[in-house]
Amino acid sequence: MTDATAPKLIDGRELAQAVRDEVRAAINDWTDEGHRPPFLSAVLVGDNAASEAYVRGKEKDAAEVGIDTNTHHLDADTSQSALLDLVHNLNADPSVDGLLVQLPLPDHIDEQTVIDAVDPSKDVDGFHPENLGRLLRGTPRYIPATPYGIMEMLSRSNVDTEGMDAVVVGRSNIVGKPLANLLLRRTANATVTVCHSRTRDLAAHTRRADLLVAAAGQAAFIDGDMVTEGAVVIDVGINRVEDASTERGYRLVGDVDFDDVRPKAARITPVPGGVGLMTRAMLLKNTLQAARLRAEGS
Ligand code: NDP
Repeated sequence: MTDATAPKLIDGRELAQAVRDEVRAAINDWTDEGHRPPFLSAVLVGDNAASEAYVRGKEKDAAEVGIDTNTHHLDADTSQSALLDLVHNLNADPSVDGLLVQLPLPDHIDEQTVIDAVDPSKDVDGFHPENLGRLLRGTPRYIPATPYGIMEMLSRSNVDTEGMDAVVVGRSNIVGKPLANLLLRRTANATVTVCHSRTRDLAAHTRRADLLVAAAGQAAFIDGDMVTEGAVVIDVGINRVEDASTERGYRLVGDVDFDDVRPKAARITPVPGGVGLMTRAMLLKNTLQAARLRAEGS
């Protein structure tokens, strides 16, 4: 159910700022109690421009709320064993509360092996199998930041997912699958369909969605014909499309054709200024959680 009086645009900037303000206040209380500030360690391998931009964004947000950070920049030709050695050292370092390895990794490194090596109690991305298992069981320790951010956007925008037909386009381990699980929980009670590249007649599914989440990584491929009147539309996609008129030579667009879908949607998130900012904000929440877990010795 949607709140008819709420504004159509779900503003990620505003909501993420609210989350950051809450995390900053909680960290102030935490340090007032005599604890040191939470510490987040990030590992970045290679020089992927998008990854560098994400990590810079995370550092900026962390500084704003009082989280200390350290980013380890490794060369693109770093061996898997050297990366695993660093991860093991950071796992063992008691000053590190949260640890993340920025994805994607270069082709010669097996991402799964690296994810599995991160201490699950420090795994603020929530990608470790233990944390995914806990999420599936309904007792999460860390919720992956993007699906966590989407659930926060919905609740903070007074979208009640109870009984909704939710259609998630995309089945990745970091977005689609965990989000589908969160929507299925008894706290959300949506009826969930997960679509992917082999789905027959995608539009037939998306058209019956009260809640449509697009997380496929295909620029503006959800158009107005694929959306029902009054749907809540969450656009996770971040796609670079060439645009010679911009200084950078590209612009960012979502998976949803915003101008085409907006008139039909009851609520919609923009790109940029939507899910991406909430994702960053939820990482801060997870890092504070990591500091609390460390202090409790768990
Ligand atoms: P993946 O590439 O891991 O997964 C994409 C999923 O979409 C796959 O399940 C794929 O199906 C499905 N898919 C691809 N094309 C189609 C299609 N034409 N029709 C139906 N399904 C399709 O991507 P991620 O989950 O990592 O990311 C998805 C998007 O979200 C990307 O644009 C990414 O940049 C963005 N993103 C944004 C974040 C944010 O903070 N806003 C955070 C993380 C990602 P199949 O499994 O069959 O291949």
